[in-house]
Amino acid sequence: MRKTVIAANWKMHKNLSETEEYGQKLMTLLASPLDAEVVICPAFTSLQVLSKTLEKSPVKIGAQNLFWENSGAYTGEISAPLLLDCGCRYVIVGHSERRHLMNESDASINRKLKAALNNSLIPIFCVGETLPERQNNMARQVIKEQLSRGLDEVSLTEGKIVIAYEPVWAIGTGINANPDDAQEMIAFIRETLAGLYNMELAQSISILYGGSVKTDNIADFMDKKDIDGALVGGASLNVHDFARIVRLG
Ligand code: PEP
Repeated sequence: MRKTVIAANWKMHKNLSETEEYGQKLMTLLASPLDAEVVICPAFTSLQVLSKTLEKSPVKIGAQNLFWENSGAYTGEISAPLLLDCGCRYVIVGHSERRHLMNESDASINRKLKAALNNSLIPIFCVGETLPERQNNMARQVIKEQLSRGLDEVSLTEGKIVIAYEPVWAIGTGINANPDDAQEMIAFIRETLAGLYNMELAQSISILYGGSVKTDNIADFMDKKDIDGALVGGASLNVHDFARIVRLG
């Protein structure tokens, strides 16, 4: 049985008081037992306050990025041990905004995945094709390369990683992928993981869909057999919407 994971990516939003208010409200909205693993990934500056606010709740905290070294002269970077110290259990790695705006390569993503895993942080490893890549029938090839390069020499065991399929053209655009297409791509990701590792491990990995998930479309994605949850950006900023997505997930 794979774990359902509903993760929120706040991106560069919410100050400390907004974070605390959100955390308190979320505790009340998600007070009854949860079927899903719920993860909130705020900005670095909000990690500690959110972790304190949610310390009595099953909701987990994740970061949106990390650096691959554990410490040293790396001005402006944040390491896995520092994230653990702030209460993180998860970290997003390879988000398309970082790939495209910050020029993150598959090679640096590979180092980040290794750093997260070596420190027992669970990476939410994002892969996805751009619109021209999809239009040119290159989506599968792109995803396969992102997976094989990102996971190069990464040893995995059950429960150590979550993958998010996030077509770039669906992120923050309000245009979600068709759930059948998302299912097809996620089944392809699972098949690729089976080739890189083995079928048993591939069957155990939770693979999420991300890209304009909202309260009115989450159920259509969750109905699909290979889709194990969602990475939610814009719609996670409203605590009522996010709690509803969790309940429908
Ligand atoms: C994301 O940031 O990972 C994301 C999927 O954003 P949105 O839900 O806003 O498309």
